[in-house]
Amino acid sequence: MNQLTSETFDSNARASLKDVHLRGALKNLAATFGERRRTAIASVENWENLREKARAIKDETLLHLDQYLENFAENAERAGAKIHWARDGKEASQIVLNLIVERNASKVVKSKSMATEEIHLNRALEAAGINPVETDLGEWIIQLAEETPSHIVVPAIHKTKKQIADLFVEKVGIEPTDDVDVLTRTARNILRERFAEAEIGISGVNFGVAETGTILILENEGNARLTTSLPKTHIAVMGIEKIIPKFTDLDVFLKLLPRSGTGQRLTTYQSLITGTKRSVNGEGPEEVHIILMDNGRSRMLAHPVTRQSLACIRCGACLNACPVYGAVGGHAYGAVYPGPIGAVITPQLIGIGATKQLPYASSLCGACREVCPVKIDIPELLLHLRAEITDGEANGKKTDIPIKGKFAERFAFGVYGLAWKRAGIYKIGTKTARLMQKFVARDGKIGEVSGFLGKLAPPLGNWTAFRDAPVIAPKSFRDIWREELKNDLSTKDTKKMN
Ligand code: SF4
Repeated sequence: MNQLTSETFDSNARASLKDVHLRGALKNLAATFGERRRTAIASVENWENLREKARAIKDETLLHLDQYLENFAENAERAGAKIHWARDGKEASQIVLNLIVERNASKVVKSKSMATEEIHLNRALEAAGINPVETDLGEWIIQLAEETPSHIVVPAIHKTKKQIADLFVEKVGIEPTDDVDVLTRTARNILRERFAEAEIGISGVNFGVAETGTILILENEGNARLTTSLPKTHIAVMGIEKIIPKFTDLDVFLKLLPRSGTGQRLTTYQSLITGTKRSVNGEGPEEVHIILMDNGRSRMLAHPVTRQSLACIRCGACLNACPVYGAVGGHAYGAVYPGPIGAVITPQLIGIGATKQLPYASSLCGACREVCPVKIDIPELLLHLRAEITDGEANGKKTDIPIKGKFAERFAFGVYGLAWKRAGIYKIGTKTARLMQKFVARDGKIGEVSGFLGKLAPPLGNWTAFRDAPVIAPKSFRDIWREELKNDLSTKDTKKMN
């Protein structure tokens, strides 16, 4: 099992940077999904309007979340579902476990769900002797490997074909092969047996419609449909932020989510579930249980900046666009939610003390904000969390985080501020830097800075350990301006004399 934690993001990231296979897979992911997304959004005329609309729907829902949740619960129960409320992950897991035990069941299948990953449901069920089987191919591979997902949408993206083939040989006992068809057929045959015998199916939820009490699950493999329709009992674990007010709102989100996530116009399957099956001989489960889980979401709701985290529809586009995720992958974040959205959600879910490196896992380039279908301003959120870390205060309460190097950071920024406020100091600073860079600049770039200079300016050494820094231009804009002004004047004077 992957033991990385958010507390050690820096060292996790350093180790990931050395993983050649991982770098290859991530490069491929960013290129493929980025291109597919661009093509898919080009098929919609009013993409920007749709993003605005989606954000407006989410903002309105979050402002009146209590009301919409009550509507949802009433309508879902009217259709035959049973609603459960869970304050945190522990309560949610206990409800699932009780439902399984009360039915004297042991055969459990599960479809991909970030909410259940968030609360480590499998671990809780396994501790009670229940072994749920993941049925999404990527999740199943991860379960076989006893690892955690490294991407919200493509959980096994960090694994190569060869690693998966070796895993199948070791865990499933097939002959060695690199034929993808053989591997997928093997998985399908095994999982079909699990579906056939399953007594309970557990799923997540993409959207819950308040107006009708309907839940929507999007997927591409058909496993979520089997999970929610074959077993007699379906348990859905849903974060309270998944609510949208009206059925017609789905039109907006169904255009945005698949295009942003996988670059598809629509996912292969969309399962809309409203309550239990309608008649004895009808299709679907006899019981539907929906667990509405808070688990830190009310805290996010309390502040206008953090509230926007709850608009996330878990499409994964920000991960694919992020240069940090693209370099270090998901496991380095040491938490269920990786990438830019993970860097803002994880500290809010499990506390900033153990995750204080995550808000700094960003260059603040804004690529995540550009691609986010619901226009979440992730850089704003990152800065907000960084401010909480520096001030040692979150939502008016002391966080009591011991910040390493806090004094050094404040001192460095103090000097920086001073230099930018006073032209004289700025001039001396840039002149000195221009002089010093002559010792380290090669071909117009500053490569790895080590030795005396690295010690003299440690942040420079850290920066250039993994990337080149641009050199300061030989002349400042003001110098060039002054020179050209002088040239202009002397040309005019010469003309006058002539
Ligand atoms: S923050 Fe935006 S881009 Fe990232 S997963 Fe959520 S909805 Fe998608």
